[in-house]
Amino acid sequence: MSNIKELVIIGDGFAAAVMVVHLLRRGIAPTAITVIGSGALGKGNAYGCDNPHFRLNIRESLPTIFSNDPLHFARWAKENINDLDAKTDAGYFYRRQDFGRYVSELVASKSKSSHIEQIKAKVLSLNGVDHSWSLALDNQSVISARKVIIATGNPPPTWPCLVTNSKPDSSASCLVENPWAGHGLDVAKTQDHIILLGGGLTALDAINNLGERKHLGPIYVISPRAIFPPAQANWERKVQPIWPQNLTPAKFIRFMRDYLPSTSTTSSEWQSAWEELRINISMIWQQFSVRQKRTLFKRLGWLWSLYRFRASPQTIAAYEKLRSKNQIQFVLGRATEIQCSEFRVKVLLGNGIEVEGDRIINCTGVASDPLLNQLIEDRLAIRDPLGHAIAVDESCRVCHLPSDRWSSLWMIGPATMGSLGDVVAASAIAKQAEQLAGQIAE
Ligand SMILES: Cc1cc2nc3c(=O)[nH]c(=O)nc-3n(C[C@H](O)[C@H](O)[C@H](O)COP(=O)(O)OP(=O)(O)OC[C@H]3O[C@@H](n4cnc5c(N)ncnc54)[C@H](O)[C@@H]3O)c2cc1C
Repeated sequence: MSNIKELVIIGDGFAAAVMVVHLLRRGIAPTAITVIGSGALGKGNAYGCDNPHFRLNIRESLPTIFSNDPLHFARWAKENINDLDAKTDAGYFYRRQDFGRYVSELVASKSKSSHIEQIKAKVLSLNGVDHSWSLALDNQSVISARKVIIATGNPPPTWPCLVTNSKPDSSASCLVENPWAGHGLDVAKTQDHIILLGGGLTALDAINNLGERKHLGPIYVISPRAIFPPAQANWERKVQPIWPQNLTPAKFIRFMRDYLPSTSTTSSEWQSAWEELRINISMIWQQFSVRQKRTLFKRLGWLWSLYRFRASPQTIAAYEKLRSKNQIQFVLGRATEIQCSEFRVKVLLGNGIEVEGDRIINCTGVASDPLLNQLIEDRLAIRDPLGHAIAVDESCRVCHLPSDRWSSLWMIGPATMGSLGDVVAASAIAKQAEQLAGQIAE
């Protein structure tokens, strides 16, 4: 019997799980699929968290797994989630851990009694050529595969600057390098001075958690800008904008500016227009040249992140409450060094400011993926236009030259954003998996 696996998915998060679900729906035999990843399939970095205060940032009707049944999760949630705090004026915003449970149950129900092989390991390197791939795992084994899908997702945050730690053992809990799973703040004392490094959704999750724990001490948010993403409003896409032809970055920005109403970014009206603009944004992104993509990202990247990744109303309510008690203080700047001594942390910023506290939480976002870096170094892949990950074509095939791609190596998930546009949210990834499953089944 051949020892070569037919189709290997690298990664065990949401993207890997929805890939499995769609492959099975397309009639691919469960025995043909192997998943490699050390966690529970479907949870990953986003939904494997065990903190009940970390919520989805989208209402219940939005994480669409099946294009022909967009409310599948909303129905499941109604029957299976007991969460009295989920309801808001903008819809139900459930806990991330409950969404993780949904995804795991989905895989189990689609694979029925058939067993999907999962190798509990990490892939250290990937080598080979089309239909003959070799994967070295961290359990010292090497496996071969005809087809490979990379679904390694969001690499967890690492400190963005030098960390000096004079008491490595006793001060470990003062330094929380990866807060995504929800650990780290549970040991904070109510009066602690908390430093949040970064001002996006992860920082807001930490604030929500501190608010729920009735935190009384100050919270310093170190960020280049003193602004958080707004709360999700009850928006609705009513029309599809008609984008002008021959878009340049300047025309693109002008069109967006003219399309958005001059109301508050927290209003349903503004967010409805913003979401209408997003309908074809990935297609438009793919029409720009590499240079144009870089220009746009440089000019619009931070604004895009600010309004694209809005928070749950519960999270923003917790932030507003702490802010009204003057517990939140923004400190503008970028960290250049973190010094940690026994039970005390000091952050040095590039502009000379120093911030001291009892605990620091790293909320700086995704790091870089060692597996993708290895593929670039070994010339099996090229960088995407933004230099964040590896390039893929419109069918998710990994490119090894600007004009050449592998026919049996694909990548899905947030790492495809530099090439394909707005592919970060659960529904966008599920759509990608649905399309790729169709392609592979054919
Ligand atoms: C903290 C957080 C919260 C989020 N919240 C939301 C939300 O509320 N709504 C929404 O729509 N989107 C949210 N997202 C966006 C997110 O991109 C997607 O929803 C989705 O979870 C991404 O799934 P993924 O499988 O691509 O990535 P991940 O969840 O990162 O999973 C990748 C998995 O692959 C494993 N892996 C990595 N490298 C290897 C390797 N070499 N070998 C084997 N395994 C490997 C990792 O350990 C991980 O378990 C969130 C993202 C994060 C990080």
